[in-house]
Amino acid sequence: MEKKQLDWSNLGFGYIQTDARFVSNYKNGAWDEGAVVTDANIVLNECAGVFQYAQTIFEGLKAYTTEDGRIVCFRPDLNASRMADSAKRLEMPVFPEERFIDAVIEVVKANAAYVPPFGSGATLYIRPYMMGTNPVIGVKPADEYMFRIFVTPVGPYFKGGAKPLTIKVSDFDRAAPHGTGHIKAGLNYAMSLHAIVTAHEEGYAENMYLDPQTRTKVEETGGANFIFITKDNKLVTPKSDSILPSITRRSLVYVAQHYLNMEVEEREVLLEEVKDFAECGLCGTAAVISPVGRIVDHGKEICLPSGMDEMGPVTKKLYDTLTGIQMGKLEAPEGWIKTIL
Ligand SMILES: *Cc1c(COP(=O)(O)O)cnc(C)c1O
Repeated sequence: MEKKQLDWSNLGFGYIQTDARFVSNYKNGAWDEGAVVTDANIVLNECAGVFQYAQTIFEGLKAYTTEDGRIVCFRPDLNASRMADSAKRLEMPVFPEERFIDAVIEVVKANAAYVPPFGSGATLYIRPYMMGTNPVIGVKPADEYMFRIFVTPVGPYFKGGAKPLTIKVSDFDRAAPHGTGHIKAGLNYAMSLHAIVTAHEEGYAENMYLDPQTRTKVEETGGANFIFITKDNKLVTPKSDSILPSITRRSLVYVAQHYLNMEVEEREVLLEEVKDFAECGLCGTAAVISPVGRIVDHGKEICLPSGMDEMGPVTKKLYDTLTGIQMGKLEAPEGWIKTIL
C-alpha cells in the first residue's frame, strides 16, 4: 500500500477528506448491512431531526502505526459502549457494539494510505457519529437514523513540546445536574462555543467548568477530563455524574495503579483544594494529556508548582507510559490494542 504524500509532521487538527467512509441506515426498526462509500456528502431533508432538534451523537478515537509497523487503534470497545450509552440517552437506536468495532476496522483499512507513519507524531482521527434523518417537526425522536464513520489524518498535538496551559474558571456551565454532560452529544458542544470563544478572547486556552449546582466542585473542560497529582504522589480525578467518562482518563487511572504503583482517588474535587495540588493535566484522545500550569479564578491565580515550562514529572511519567502502551513499546493490558492491519 502506497502512503499518500502528506507532510505528516506538519498536519494540524483539521479535516482532510479521505477516500472512504462507512454508512449504515436505520429504517423500520432495523439497521441495514452498511457499506464503505466514497461520497463525503450527505443529502437530507430540510426537516431532518438532526437539523431541527440536534438529535446527534458522536465518538472520537485514533488509529496509528506502532513501532513494529502495525496499524492499530486503542480500546475501540469503550467507544462502542459509550456511543450506545449516548444513543439511549437521546432516544436513538444503538448501533450494535460489535458492528461499531467492525466498521471502524473496515474504514481504517479502506483509508490505510492515510494512516501516518510511526514516528511522525501524526495519527488518523476516527469520527463515528449518528443522527436522526427523517423529517421531524413535532418534538419527538426521529424514526430513521444514519450511522457514519469518517477518518481524517491529524498532526502531532504538541508541536515543539507540551507547554503548560493557562485556563480560567468559567462563569458558564457545561452540563446540568441530571442533564446530558455524561454523553458525547453535539448539543454539549454547541452550548460550549460561546464560553470557549470568550475564554480565548481573554487569552485563556481552556475553561475549567464547575458543578452548576454549587459552583464549588471541579468538573472538566469543554472536551477533556482533569487529573491532578497531589504532593504525595496520588492521582486525583473528579467524580461527577455530569462529566463525560473519558477513555483516556480511565486508562490513565489504570496505568497509575498497575504500572506506576500510585494511589488513585476518584472523588469530588473542590475548587478550594486545587491550590494544594502539585500537578494538573487535561486528558482526552487528541492530546492524551495537556499539562495545566495556571488556573485563573476571577483575578485569583493558582500556579501549579510544576510551572509553565514543561509537564510535571508525574504527569510526564503517566503520559510516557500510556503513549508507550499505545505505540507498542510497553506491554498493553489485555484487549487495549486492536490490530487492524
Ligand atoms: C470526548 C470528551 C472527553 C475525552 O474523552 P476521551 O475518551 O478520553 O477522548 C472529555 N470530555 C468531554 C466533554 C468529551 O466530549
